[in-house]
Amino acid sequence: MLSDLIKEVCEAVIAHEAELTALDSAIGDGDHGLNMKRGFSELLAKSDELAGQEVGAALKAAGMTLVMKVGGASGPLYGSLFMSLGKELAGKTEIDQSVIAEALAVAQAAVMARGKSQPGQKTMLDVIAPVQQKLAEGAALTDVAAAALAAAEATAPIQALKGRASFLGERSIGHVDPGARSSAVITEAACRVLERSG
Ligand SMILES: [Mg+2]
Repeated sequence: MLSDLIKEVCEAVIAHEAELTALDSAIGDGDHGLNMKRGFSELLAKSDELAGQEVGAALKAAGMTLVMKVGGASGPLYGSLFMSLGKELAGKTEIDQSVIAEALAVAQAAVMARGKSQPGQKTMLDVIAPVQQKLAEGAALTDVAAAALAAAEATAPIQALKGRASFLGERSIGHVDPGARSSAVITEAACRVLERSG
C-alpha cells in the first residue's frame, strides 16, 4: 500500500507539471511545476527504498528529499509538512483516519511556522486546513478529496498575502494559488489510494 501511495502521489504531481507552471507563471515566477516535478521524480525513483521502511520513517525521508530537490519556497514547506507527518506517525502501529488527522494538525502547524503564514492568505494552507478538518470529522475520503479540490479553486478570489504573489497585490486576485493546487493534487491521489486499500 505504501508503495502505491508514493507512486500514485508522485505520478499525479508529475502529470500536473504544466498546469502548476501555468498557475505559477500567472502570479509567481513560473517554477512551481518544474520544481515539484523534480522533487517528486526523485521520490518516485526512490519509491521502493521508501516503501521498505515503516510509514513514519518513509515520510521523514520523503520530506528531506523534497527540501533538497524541490527548492524555491515550496521545498522547505512541503519538506516541513512531510517530515512533521513522519515524526508524528513514527512508531504508530494502528494508523487510522483519526491518527492521520492528528498528525496532519501538527504538520499544518509546522507549515504555518515555517511559512509564517495562516490559512486565508492564498497558500497551500488553504487546502491543508480544510483537509485536516474533514479528516478530523471522519469524512469519507472521497469527500476529503473533493474538499481539497474545491479549496484550491477557492483561493482564486483571495488576494495573496504571502510569497512572491503578494507583490502583485490586487492583481493576484482571480488566479488559483499554485501551492494550493499542488496540495490538492497530492491530497486527491493519496485519498484515492487510501480509499482503495481500505
Ligand atoms: Mg515559484
